[in-house]
Amino acid sequence: MTVRTRFAPSPTGSLHIGGARTAIFNWLFARNAGGEFILRIEDTDRTRSTEESIEEITDAMEWLGLDWDEGPFRQSDRLDIYQEHANKLLESGKAYKCYVTPEELEEKRKEAQSKGEVLRYKREWAKLNEGPDNPYAIRLQTPDEGAIEVQDLLRGIVTFDAGEVDDFVILKRDGFPTYNFAVVVDDATMNITHVIRGDDHLINTPRQVLIYNALSYEIPKIAHVSMILGADNKRLSKRHGATSVVAYKDRGYLPEAIINFLSRLGWSYGDQEIFSKTELVEKFTLKNVGKSAAVFNEEKLDWLNAWYIRNEPAQEIAKLVIPLLKEKGLEVELDNKLIKIVQELSQRAKTLLDISNTIDYFYADEIEYEEKAKSKFLKPEIKPVLQELADRLSSLADFNMDEMHKVFDQVMEERELKLGKIAQPLRVALTGGTVSPGIFEVMDILGKDEVLKRLSKAISTIPNN
Ligand code: GLU
Repeated sequence: MTVRTRFAPSPTGSLHIGGARTAIFNWLFARNAGGEFILRIEDTDRTRSTEESIEEITDAMEWLGLDWDEGPFRQSDRLDIYQEHANKLLESGKAYKCYVTPEELEEKRKEAQSKGEVLRYKREWAKLNEGPDNPYAIRLQTPDEGAIEVQDLLRGIVTFDAGEVDDFVILKRDGFPTYNFAVVVDDATMNITHVIRGDDHLINTPRQVLIYNALSYEIPKIAHVSMILGADNKRLSKRHGATSVVAYKDRGYLPEAIINFLSRLGWSYGDQEIFSKTELVEKFTLKNVGKSAAVFNEEKLDWLNAWYIRNEPAQEIAKLVIPLLKEKGLEVELDNKLIKIVQELSQRAKTLLDISNTIDYFYADEIEYEEKAKSKFLKPEIKPVLQELADRLSSLADFNMDEMHKVFDQVMEERELKLGKIAQPLRVALTGGTVSPGIFEVMDILGKDEVLKRLSKAISTIPNN
């Protein structure tokens, strides 16, 4: 039997980190088994579902590289199928029409509340307002007592008290299915073999089991994965800062890093931290998914992102940096200069923004000095040193690193200066600030003319003693 998993987001917002982790687990599980991965949009909540959110979710999945084999299906296109199934249950007497109005139910809820009780639905209310033209919902007739067992791949058998489950609505008066009914009909008719979802859905599962049984459908294998917690051990939410995938994309994270990071939230493989996607597909099993909640560690994500930025080919990172620069109004091409710059800046960048935000001086027509850097390092006593460097560098026929090093060695020796004494003022002269890649790399990237131009500006900026 072909393994078939699905990701079934409700399009009521962006794809958040928890949802993405669920999608990744389902995707990995399917790919590992050579199976199929289905995308299903659960948009039966008409008031909260939006087109933008569907687009954002599918964009985020594409960005992460989670390709799907079928879909996106939309539940709102499948109303006939749910109605058909509900009718079947009516015919077999496993479900019944309930004419009680929402207002009446609300009334009863308030009444119960005033007595400090929770509303329990009573079967006889179904007949209130009964009449051939009156609207009705369809409710599943559920057992009054006994146990409902949920077989969970991670937790074993979880038992629920059937007495706690009222006869619940499967099809609303407006013809829309309720969440649990749509999920079951879809999972069954889409031949889903494995359902992997967050354990916040565990409370829905006993109802779903009852629906499977009533419809005589086979129950897929189900795994409820533990929630993701923030650093404070509370469930990850907006309070913890960025939680949507697109927010991480905008902050300069790479999809490879996000996939690697989220895969490891709840799943492990010894001490290994870095996994390519291919490796994840090979190694992912539910056996290695833990039962306890995983903690979202932002520092770990940064560390992984930095690793991927450092280890991807500079040319690939450069391609990602170009649009970020464009947003800032800096038009640059994918050329050797950019690739060299990215090669250098990626050594210490945690995000792509760390590159795009510190690149300007390489492209500036006129260097602007940071005030503090200028007053600390561009001082009269350094002026002759910079002048001598400029003179010697300008006479180099071949402006390469070896030759530059020789020039520095000579100047240091003659003037009995350590490299540190020269490098920092030179850095300010060439970049305007005190933080940059190695000074020889910076000179190599800028090239002879630009280095001499910037040195000459710095020299003329420094007052004479
Ligand atoms: N639509 C549900 C959600 O977004 C998922 C349902 C399921 O996975 O069974 O939380």
